[in-house]
This record gives sequence, C-alpha cells and structure tokens, in this order.
Amino acid sequence: MHEQPQDTTRIAFAELTQILRKIFVKGGVSPANAAILAANCAGCERDGGLSHGVFRIPGYLASLKSGWVDGKALPVIERAGPSLLRVDAQNGFAQVAWAAALPQVLDMASGQGAAVVAIRDSHHFSALWPDIEPLAEAGFVALSMVTGLACVAPPGGRKPVFGTDPIAFATPVAGTHPMIFDFATSAMSNGDLRLAARAGHNVPLGTGIDRSGALSDDPKQILDGGALLPFGGHKGAAISLMVEILASALTGGQFSSEVDFSAHPGAETPRTGQVVIVIDPARGNNAVFADRVRKLIDSVRDAGQARLPSDRRYRTRERSEREGISIAPEQLDALVQMAAD
Ligand code: NDP
Repeated sequence: MHEQPQDTTRIAFAELTQILRKIFVKGGVSPANAAILAANCAGCERDGGLSHGVFRIPGYLASLKSGWVDGKALPVIERAGPSLLRVDAQNGFAQVAWAAALPQVLDMASGQGAAVVAIRDSHHFSALWPDIEPLAEAGFVALSMVTGLACVAPPGGRKPVFGTDPIAFATPVAGTHPMIFDFATSAMSNGDLRLAARAGHNVPLGTGIDRSGALSDDPKQILDGGALLPFGGHKGAAISLMVEILASALTGGQFSSEVDFSAHPGAETPRTGQVVIVIDPARGNNAVFADRVRKLIDSVRDAGQARLPSDRRYRTRERSEREGISIAPEQLDALVQMAAD
C-alpha cells in the first residue's frame, strides 16, 4: 500500500473518473470499456488503494501501446452448467469481462444458490475488492482469485513459478459495510518491494531470496534475478498453488509462469485468468447469516483486534466522499494533460 502524498489536492470521484476515461480512450480502449476501467481505477484511488489507483495508468497505457492487451475486446459469456459461467475475456481486461458477467452471476447466485465464474484470457491489473464488494452488498458471500506474473518462488526453490496471486473474500455483515479482505499471497507485494528498493530500505527476512536461492533482506537483490516468497512458508505456498489451480487451470487461463510478453516491449499486464465463487448464504438454511457474522466480528474486536480488514478502506472512502479524493497536484496535472493531449 503506497503512502498518501504529503502535498495533496482534492478531486471528486466523478471528475477523476471522467479524466481517466478520456485517458483510456486515448490509449485505445473502447468508450464502454474505458468507463469500466476508469471507475475501477478511481475507486481504488478514492479508497486509498494507491498501488492500484492512478499509479497504474502508465502500466495500462504501456501494455495497450505494446499491442499485448486488447482495450476494445468484447467478452464472450457461456453458461457451462446451472451454476457455472465461463467467460472468455478475449485478451481484454478482466474488469470488463466481470462487468459483462455480473448480471448473470447475480441471477445464478439467487436462482441456484451459488455461481462459479471462470474468466480466462484476461488481464487483471487492479485490486480484487471492487469485483466482489457489490456481491456482498447484495447479500452474497464471494471469493475471488487472480494469477499474475511469475515472481514468487516456492519455499526451498530458486525459480519463480507463482505470481503474487491475490485472494479476496467478501461477506455481508448485519448493520454495516461488508467485510472484505484482499491481499497478495506473496510475503510482500511487488510494488512494495520496488518501493523499498527505491527508498534503500531493507525488507524482513523471509520476504524473498537472491539469485542463489539464499534468503535476502535486500530488495534490490530480490528483484535482480531473485524472487519473492509466499507468505507463511509452506502454508502460503499451498494457497498460491490453489490460486494458480483455480484462477488458471480451472478457467483455461495461463499460469503465471506461462505468461510471455517478450514480443511486446513495454507490456506490464498479466494475461492469465480469474475465478469468482459466489454463494447465497440464505441457502444454507440460514436467514440470520449476516447477524451471525456481525456477532463474530464484534467478538473479534472485543477480543482486542483494533483494525479489521476493510476498516481503513471504508474510512478513507468516507473522507474522500466528504472532501474529495486526495491526490498530489503534480500527479493530477499530469493526468489532466494526458487527457487533453
Ligand atoms: P496488504 O498486505 O496491504 O493487505 C491488504 C488487506 O489486508 C486489506 O484487506 C486490508 O484492509 C487488510 N489489512 C492490512 N493491514 C491490516 C491490519 N494491520 N489489520 C487488519 N487488516 C489489515 O495487501 P497487499 O499489498 O498484499 O495487496 C494490496 C492490493 O494489491 C490488493 O488489493 C490486491 O488485490 C492487489 N494485488 C493485485 C494483483 C493483481 O495481479 N491484480 C497482484 C497482487 C496484489 P484495508 O483495505 O482496510 O487496509
């Protein structure tokens, strides 16, 4: 998670979304797809998820310019069973494929009690919470996983095979926002590792290995031919393995280790897959599910955990909605310029 810049100005969500939409269209994205990407990116910025907000714009544009990703792609949706939807993103952005599938997903989850969405040939370059928050708002439990670019080695290994492979879970909570956690299954995200390298900070031992396979606390050595490690040793490695299996093998997408964009200099987005699993808790013969979750969360807070996942994000969102989204003036100027050029 990147630090909020010190010197900031404020901009309304709708205004930032308009600027980003124009930038995406200029970058070769269709107007309809650009509206989806812009809202997603502005939403991350609004909620303080700076590593997936406007910081990502150059990466999106470089990938589009390289011809690696199709900004105009129209996803193809196929009902593969009562509760299974297959979505071919057609080498487009995953958010676009997900937005196209969402109405059917909501129908399936309420009609059948569950929906599994297998998205393939997709580029996910953002946070996962925006995909599943609407599901929890609608009363469903949801889980999503995405594969990426191989930069994480298994424990004891030397060669990266996993992406940072994030996993996100969302649940309704009675009387308040859904609870959502959303994080990489690597010990540290790639962005944070790069920031540590740039700032000259060491990272905790266990974050990654150098090119010889030895544990290193030097982010430059980890980046220079080394690899990140999964969080939590063999337990995290098993979860990374599961993400690769569900988001890539099950969907028909590429594994993180199969992504090869060497023919597209400048490309940054991973071309892999995403899985979303949605369950209607009411089908568990459980009309009081959200109350039960609330009780559990309250007991966790009572037990002493001061901050639960998504607390900070909702707080930042509320402030952004009240005062505008905080952004560095020079960053905003650059975006306005990009939209106008
Ligand atoms: P973090 O380690 O920052 O953890 C984020 C999650 O943990 C959030 O749900 C956050 O809640 C919660 N959290 C953080 N600190 C605490 C705390 N002290 N106590 C309780 N809860 C806490 O995430 P990562 O750096 O691993 O990932 C950041 C983002 O990057 C994610 O959105 C992820 O989806 C995205 N990502 C995307 C990839 C892709 O290929 N598309 C690849 C890898 C990551 P809160 O939001 O309230 O802070």
